[in-house]
Amino acid sequence: SGSNDELDRILELSKESKKLVRDHFRNMDETDHYRKEFIGDISHELKTPIFSVQGYLETLSQGALDDPKVNKLFLTKAMNNVDRLISLTNDLMEITKIETGELKPELQIIALNNIINDVIDSLNYKAEQAQITIRFQPKEVNSFAFADRNQIRQVLINLVENAIKYNKPEGRIYIGTTIEKSDPEHVLVSVKDTGIGIEPENLKRVTERFYRVDKSRSRDQGGTGLGLAIVKHILESHNSQLQIKSKPGSGSQFSFKLKLADHYSDHISA
Ligand code: ADP
Repeated sequence: SGSNDELDRILELSKESKKLVRDHFRNMDETDHYRKEFIGDISHELKTPIFSVQGYLETLSQGALDDPKVNKLFLTKAMNNVDRLISLTNDLMEITKIETGELKPELQIIALNNIINDVIDSLNYKAEQAQITIRFQPKEVNSFAFADRNQIRQVLINLVENAIKYNKPEGRIYIGTTIEKSDPEHVLVSVKDTGIGIEPENLKRVTERFYRVDKSRSRDQGGTGLGLAIVKHILESHNSQLQIKSKPGSGSQFSFKLKLADHYSDHISA
């Protein structure tokens, strides 16, 4: 029976090692597949603006430069496409850093209201140009959260930019912070708009990189299709989740929770 036990153990070990090898290859396949898909997506996204720039510059160099009717227009179009390439590159660098774990959140005590007011200040001009009003209605005097300041600022910028881009003229944006009685350890941050909304079948997909409901609208607004993917990643690295509610035609609400750091409020640095 001693040798039987031995045999059982060897069998068990070999099963175990087979499983390990199988899992290893499965993981490798997945990361490899993911990488290939990502590179494919990126090449596709970069191609359009690069070829546009090339097309406009070629046309200009072949004589259009001397035509006062079109030269300014073509130069502007070429420049817009270069701007697009710059935003794409910036967003790609950001998402790559986050996905490779290079951008670990540096948790600190942050004064949320101050960050929200900064974000509003930096986007107010854009909002005014689109005839959109931003309202900040904190339910709390100030909420001190335990989070990475720059990353949360990035999350808010992406959400508020979207609320401007996918709004209607005379539209509104409401930003709020609430501490719910049922969850006193967290602060709930929400960005709500009175914009075009998102159909239920698209709700799940909007956080996928490069997914847009309306490609040409996103492009016209300077979108890259990466904003919400970045938001999702940042929140996940904070053990949080992006919640989206939307009514097509009347507006959307994006919200997330952050851990409160109230008992540390003596050491506030923000
Ligand atoms: P983009 O650069 O295209 O704005 P995002 O990742 O930020 O990329 O958003 C993905 C898509 O989700 C957008 O193209 C748009 O279709 C939709 N979307 C995002 N925010 C809103 C919003 N506030 N209202 C309606 N649609 C939105």
